[in-house]
Amino acid sequence: MTDITHYTERRDALWKKCSHCDEPVFNQVLKRHFYTCPHCDHYSPMPAEERLFHLFDTEPLMNLYPPLAPESLLESLELMDFVSHTTFPDELGQLIAAGDGTISGHPAILAVVHPYSVPQRGHFVTLLTCIRASLQKNLPLITVYPSDGLAKRKSDEPKQSELTPAEITHLKIELDGLSQARLPQITALTDIGVTGGFSTRFPLGDLVVSEQKKVVHRGDGIPNLSDSPQSDVLIDLNTQRQELPTLLGKLLAFFADKQTVGRKATTHEIHSNS
Ligand SMILES: [Zn+2]
Repeated sequence: MTDITHYTERRDALWKKCSHCDEPVFNQVLKRHFYTCPHCDHYSPMPAEERLFHLFDTEPLMNLYPPLAPESLLESLELMDFVSHTTFPDELGQLIAAGDGTISGHPAILAVVHPYSVPQRGHFVTLLTCIRASLQKNLPLITVYPSDGLAKRKSDEPKQSELTPAEITHLKIELDGLSQARLPQITALTDIGVTGGFSTRFPLGDLVVSEQKKVVHRGDGIPNLSDSPQSDVLIDLNTQRQELPTLLGKLLAFFADKQTVGRKATTHEIHSNS
């Protein structure tokens, strides 16, 4: 290897061009700004594992990604059959990152789907693990889904069989179990697709939050309740990326209130509570 190719490789590993404004951004700077461009505020897709650490207060107490989750837990959740019949990519966070931890001091189960990953079997098994762990531990479930549109890059052909309608139905039925147990389910949608809206094949929680660069504020600074016109899902609340952990913390605090636990909140109630 010549010095020049070595230099070029090193340089390319250090920075990349923003896909929106074309300005070069150092990877470390991008990371420090939660994958938001310091020049134009464009949101780059955030790797699943990094988002998990961004949302959790500290490292997750327990990793719920099946190959890394304790075998005793998977056995108690009756998931050993699923795990043994599923292959998982070697690299962590290639499909989904999931854990059991606290967000702004409130315990929750969190599952983050990796941007660009086509919904597939690894997601199904991990989400199933999270839903059952949520039920067993009596904890709220938070799911983070990037828009499906992102996954349509040719380089991201699924390595496993794609999520089937039967698997989606299975997840919905298991989620109904959480509703019956009055456990809050919150979904955060990230990374607006090329159509300018949010879309996902994964089943949504009772409350849906979207992460968007431009948030319409009312005079009092509270995010406006609005639907993204081109989204095929109904959004309850909008927030900016940097504020997502705080918003989730507020929602968890709201649901943790004994009088309101398990009851589907109206956005009015959440606003007056925050
Ligand atoms: Zn930019």
